[in-house]
Amino acid sequence: MHTGSYINGQWIHPQSERMVRNVNPADTEDVIAEFPSATAADVQRAIEAAQAAFPAWKSTPGPERGRVIWRAADIARQRADEIARMMTREEGKVLKEARGEVLKGISLLEFYAGEGFRLHGKTLPSEARDTFTYTIRRPLGVVGLISPWNFPWSIPIWKSAPAIVAGNTVVFKPAELTPATATLLTEIYEEAGLPPGVFNLVVGPGSVVGEAIVASPTVRAVSFTGSNAVGSALYVKAAARGAKVTCEMGGKNAAVVMPDADLDKAAVAIHGGAFGSTGQRCTATSRVIAMAPVKDALLERLVENAKKIKVGSGLEEGVDMGPAVDEKQWKTDLDYIALGQHEGARLVLGGKRPEHLSRGYFIEPTIFDQVSPAMRIFREEIFGPVLSVATANSLEEALRFANSVDYGLTASIFTQNIDWVMRFVEEVETGMVHVNEPTIGGEAQLPFGGTKATGVGEREMAEEGLNFFTELKTVFINYSGKAERLLIR
Ligand code: NAD
Repeated sequence: MHTGSYINGQWIHPQSERMVRNVNPADTEDVIAEFPSATAADVQRAIEAAQAAFPAWKSTPGPERGRVIWRAADIARQRADEIARMMTREEGKVLKEARGEVLKGISLLEFYAGEGFRLHGKTLPSEARDTFTYTIRRPLGVVGLISPWNFPWSIPIWKSAPAIVAGNTVVFKPAELTPATATLLTEIYEEAGLPPGVFNLVVGPGSVVGEAIVASPTVRAVSFTGSNAVGSALYVKAAARGAKVTCEMGGKNAAVVMPDADLDKAAVAIHGGAFGSTGQRCTATSRVIAMAPVKDALLERLVENAKKIKVGSGLEEGVDMGPAVDEKQWKTDLDYIALGQHEGARLVLGGKRPEHLSRGYFIEPTIFDQVSPAMRIFREEIFGPVLSVATANSLEEALRFANSVDYGLTASIFTQNIDWVMRFVEEVETGMVHVNEPTIGGEAQLPFGGTKATGVGEREMAEEGLNFFTELKTVFINYSGKAERLLIR
């Protein structure tokens, strides 16, 4: 595996004093690699390479661009096990989840490869006689992609594949915690035959590499996924210079359990949403709002299921939940657990590092009961395996609680009552809604993203994700033989 940046079709080792140390969060003595940090000058070179590659890539037919992405999907399928293992080693999610993420990334590659045939505009009737009017989609130019560590394979794909298929050239900055998975994706794009300069990988800190991408007047669009603190500052900077921006940020997703729900199934679904990927999903279920008559029976099931979770290294078969991604996230989880107790919530399970696991950033699956909507553990994104259970007395009250937070990514309802389903779908303030399933999940062909403080800009994935990386041109062709256009008679 390469351990540098990839600029203009070359793997380079920036002469930097700062190294990105890539450590296995399940075993801090396992150092995967050291990546030299790129500098602002390296970013500038990547942007120039992308700018130089743009004219030829833009005029390559869409289906041809898509074929390169299809080849990348084929190569990724052959290397699936290697990618999944690397992801588990550097990010910590268990192998089963990593394999699932690899497959999801392959679906995204396949979906966007096909979109190369469908980069369509619209034809619309003109008000003028003998005039043909239509729209075409054109690529933007050089685009900047900035991604987080929690889906180190699929998020870079759901940004880069549509950008490339639409005819843009890319400067990509992965999270500092996951450069190895980003490197594998870059190797695959290279092997698939992307021309030099079309896709550039720049590894380094957000404060240097990210800032340089956002500030460059050559970068026409910035697609960011990560925290609200970074995303909202980045949005202001990029928008101020007229760049197109999309930011997908935090979540605080609620599952509402109605009195008629199948509690066994609801408990299994909530369990997966809360503790899958160690709770480190933007779509994680971090709040349960249960109706008073079923709350205790649901809680009992949630606790029973969570007690069975085997915590450990995701590389070991039989392990259900890996570690927090790093010491900072681990401490954040523990701080929120202490805060929840201080706020008066009742800790019913977990709350600390499992005693037998001292070498990684492990934490027990944790459940709080008697959480009220005013508490910070109910309102703020924790990004760990911490589930807060609150009680409501009606769907209206549950909706009020669910909607009382700043975030708006996803939500679930568990019920058989169609009226409640329809009311919930209509009223819950999120970009995605699930019925009788966890808050997690997304599919290549379906738009993904949130509302309120979670998301600003176009949705990702699906055709919408492609639209972000294009701009429309409206064309008027006058074949009347007259000079003037007579619009309104
Ligand atoms: P983060 O904001 O710390 O970092 C995200 C990326 O931004 C990284 O590549 C980082 O290096 C870069 N960055 C940092 N400072 C920067 C700067 N000043 N300028 C430009 N780039 C900068 O987020 P994280 O900890 O990597 O990821 C976790 C967050 O991501 C959570 O809040 C989670 O909810 C969110 N997330 C959201 C979605 C979604 O689709 N809504 C999906 C996954 C993760």
